[in-house]
Amino acid sequence: MTTPEHSLVGIHVAFALGLHRTVGWRSVVFAALVSNIPDWDGLPMLFDMQRFESGHRVWGHSIASLVLTSILMAWTQIRWDWIGGLARWGLLQFPALGSLSEKPHDSQTYGIKALISFTCIALMSQMLHLICDMVVSGGKGLSSWAIQPFWPFSGAAYDYPLIPWGDVGPTVILMTGIIVGAKRKELVCPISRSTLVILLVYLMARGAF
Ligand SMILES: [Zn+2]
Repeated sequence: MTTPEHSLVGIHVAFALGLHRTVGWRSVVFAALVSNIPDWDGLPMLFDMQRFESGHRVWGHSIASLVLTSILMAWTQIRWDWIGGLARWGLLQFPALGSLSEKPHDSQTYGIKALISFTCIALMSQMLHLICDMVVSGGKGLSSWAIQPFWPFSGAAYDYPLIPWGDVGPTVILMTGIIVGAKRKELVCPISRSTLVILLVYLMARGAF
């Protein structure tokens, strides 16, 4: 999946679970951002294509990396509230996120409960990234690109291609869900749940036919 699609999946899962109400709006932004963390292993492409070939979908897509980066991202958020900082610097300016620049309720942002919540959100978002990468894989002229979740302990590679990389279907479904949810804010939870169900049906139907 592409970076925007991973972010949209993270946002919809956060809304579907009602995290904006129980954990706060920071958790929705957090889910959107950490949904892309596994793709840090694509950065070597900027310097060395050979390293990119060997590392992408391996280093950052391993369970070991998921656990370490989830704890790191959650801890830094709880310690420094970098999402609130981004909002105060004007880098997160959406009408619905206006409250981010204000000091939140303590239990939502600080303390062990918040740390556990944000770590779980990061783990869940990154696990979904792996699943999305496994089912959106390969395509015209591209071989399917398996991930190695047990690296560095095992080189076992897994994929389950249902649609080709770059297929526009997921973007259309996920963006439609965001637009409808923005228009009917009071129904955002069921709208996001429905969006994820439609995405799942689309993936299975495309894989079957
Ligand atoms: Zn990926």
